[in-house]
Formats: sequence, structure tokens, C-alpha cells
Amino acid sequence: LIGETSQELGTDSYVIGGFVRDYLLKRGTPKDIDIVTIGSGIELAKKVASKLKGKPQVSIFKNFGTAMIKHQELELEFVGARKESYHHDSRKPVVEDGSLEDDQNRRDFTINAIALALNQLNYGQLLDPFNGLGDLEKKLIRTPLEPSITYSDDPLRMMRAIRFATQLDFTIELKSLQAITENKERIKIVSKERIIDELHKIILSKKPSIGFKLLHQTSLLHIILPELTALQGIEEIEGQRHKDNFWHTLEVVDNISENTDNLWLRWAALLHDIGKAPTKRFHKKNGWTFHAHEFVGSKMVYKLFKRLRMPLNDKMKFVQKMVLMSSRPIILSEDHVTDSAVRRLVFDAGEYVEDLMTLCEADITTKNPRKQRKYKN
Ligand code: ATP
Repeated sequence: LIGETSQELGTDSYVIGGFVRDYLLKRGTPKDIDIVTIGSGIELAKKVASKLKGKPQVSIFKNFGTAMIKHQELELEFVGARKESYHHDSRKPVVEDGSLEDDQNRRDFTINAIALALNQLNYGQLLDPFNGLGDLEKKLIRTPLEPSITYSDDPLRMMRAIRFATQLDFTIELKSLQAITENKERIKIVSKERIIDELHKIILSKKPSIGFKLLHQTSLLHIILPELTALQGIEEIEGQRHKDNFWHTLEVVDNISENTDNLWLRWAALLHDIGKAPTKRFHKKNGWTFHAHEFVGSKMVYKLFKRLRMPLNDKMKFVQKMVLMSSRPIILSEDHVTDSAVRRLVFDAGEYVEDLMTLCEADITTKNPRKQRKYKN
């Protein structure tokens, strides 16, 4: 229908972006379809909507020159093919009408730039100027243009590269990784909301540690979540060492992610040890201690959420509580993820709550067979 309609308007149209990529990867059910047309996206959307059953409403975003139709479970997004250029201090491009090639050039990654023709003449043909198909096969995140230009133009793409690498379990090409590292400071021109959107997607992936390792490797993590990078490293005094709490945290997050899809439980796992950096002490008698790190950590959660402009609501309080209980998320199944359940858990456990806490931590950190036996009992 879209192909037919654009033909009536005397233009060509293509499906592009995530839908084509995920279709080729046989991945999930699509939620949106991006359509690019060589002409006005808004005009095409209006005409398509008038032919659809029930004549759905067209949402028009005049500033962006885009339009959206909700059809059944799908969001159809229409945009006119465009050429973009950037100013140094903004990720908002200067836009002008362009060809399909111009539009493919402005896309972030080769795997997101594959177009599927909807025209009668070449219906179903894939137009793939940057060999995105080859990259899908090689499981590679690569930019259509020079990476230094792509990431500097729009630094959000640095987060997107790492997010796609995590979601798809792809590798980021070396040149891209270098360009991200070089341009890391430019992440500061991206709004906190967009950064958080990408962080949420990384945290919700099957194996979040992939993303956090890449964020760490490119030093982006130090800018976004310095509380986490502060956990990295092992110190040794008088022959006594403590564990590396950064790598331990990533293990905990992956571990939890095998058991729950709950975003906030995963956030709690990510932040469960952040109080350890400021509370670390060495005592001649007791060795390394992190006294009251749970308490300090839960206060840090508030500041961190505030800094990242995340909502300071019940979800944040939940994360704080879980941190206060220090990595207790491990034992909670998804059904128990409510404030009151956490309180009930603490209440019911009564005087044994300390043991319960130790037990949870022990699942991951205790290799000592004597302790394991003790916790089992
Ligand atoms: P998902 O829906 O899983 O997030 P997607 O690829 O559909 O994946 P969108 O954010 O919906 O992601 O973007 C749609 C398409 O628009 C992308 O596939 C890409 O071609 C292009 N795109 C989105 N954001 C950018 C960007 N910052 N720079 C360049 N191209 C982008």
C-alpha cells in the first residue's frame, strides 16, 4: 500500500533502519517501521492513512518534517529523504532535502542504513551501499562515514554503538572504538534523558556487562557514572588485598539479569556496591573494611539519580532500599519487586536479616567451602 501510494505521488519509498536490520537478523517482533520517501514524508503519511481501514490519525512533527501513524500494533514513521550537516556545539543537524543515498549517508551504522525498496519496479530489493549485510554476518558495528566524523557530529551515536553491541552481541570496529574514546568528552552535549534511555537499554540487555565493559574501555563510563569506575582496582597493604568491586559488580548484574527483567532490580544490582569506594579503609587488625557502605551507597543513589535527571520517585526509593540491603536483589524473584515486599522481607527475616544478606552475597563471592556449608545450613 505504501509503495502504491508513493507511486501515485510520483515518488519512491523505502523501509530503512531497525525494521530491516531486525528482519534480516530474524529478531523479535517489530514495534515500528521507518519509511523514507524521496519527497514529503508528511504528505505520504496523510495519503496512506486515508486509505487504511479506520482512517487512523496522523501525528505530524512539523519541526522534524516527520509523521507517524499507529496501525494495529505498529508505529509507521514517515520521513522525507534528507541530507544533514552539523555545527560543532549541537547535535541538531541542519537539514535539507536529499536523495536516498544522502539519507543512507546520515545513518549511524551500516546495519541501520540498509533500505528495502517498496516501488513496483524494484519491490523487495535491498539497497545496501555500505555492505551492512556483510556486517550483519560479521556481527560488526561500523559507521557509513569516517567514525571520527560520525561520532563527533552526533555524540549520542557513541552510546547507540555500545547499546547495539550489547543488545545484538556484536563487536564495535576498532576504528570506531578509537573514535569514541577520542570524542568521549563530547557526550556532554547530549541531554541526560537520551543518555539514560540508552543506559536503560544496555541494562535491559541479556548480558549488560558487555555494554559496561565497552563504556569503561572507551572511558565514557567515567564521565557518566564515575561512582562505578571508582570501584575499579585492587589495593594491597601488608599482603592483604580486597576484591575488585567493579568487575564483581558486573558479575552481579549479569547474574541478576539471568533471573529478572526488572529494570530497577538490575539498577540496584549495578549500584549495590557504590558506597564501597568512599568507605574503604585499611585497619592493621581487621584488614580491609567498607564499614556502612550500604548506608553511604543508598545516599549516593539519590545524588546519582538527581544528577542524571532520573525521576526521584518510588523506583528510586526502591533502588535505594535494595542498596541499603546491599545486593539483596539476588534472592528476590520478579514477583517480589515492590517496596512493601522488600519491607516485609526484612520484617519477616527479623534478627536473621544479617544472615540473609550474607547468604545472598555469598552466592557469588564465597568460594570458601566452609563458609558455603555454613550459609547452606
Ligand atoms: P531500536 O528500535 O531497537 O532502537 P532502531 O534502529 O529502529 O532500533 P531508532 O532509534 O528507532 O532505532 O532509529 C531508527 C533509525 O534511524 C536507525 O536505524 C538509524 O538508521 C536512524 N538513526 C536513529 N538515530 C540516529 C542517530 N543518532 N544518528 C544517525 N542515524 C540515526
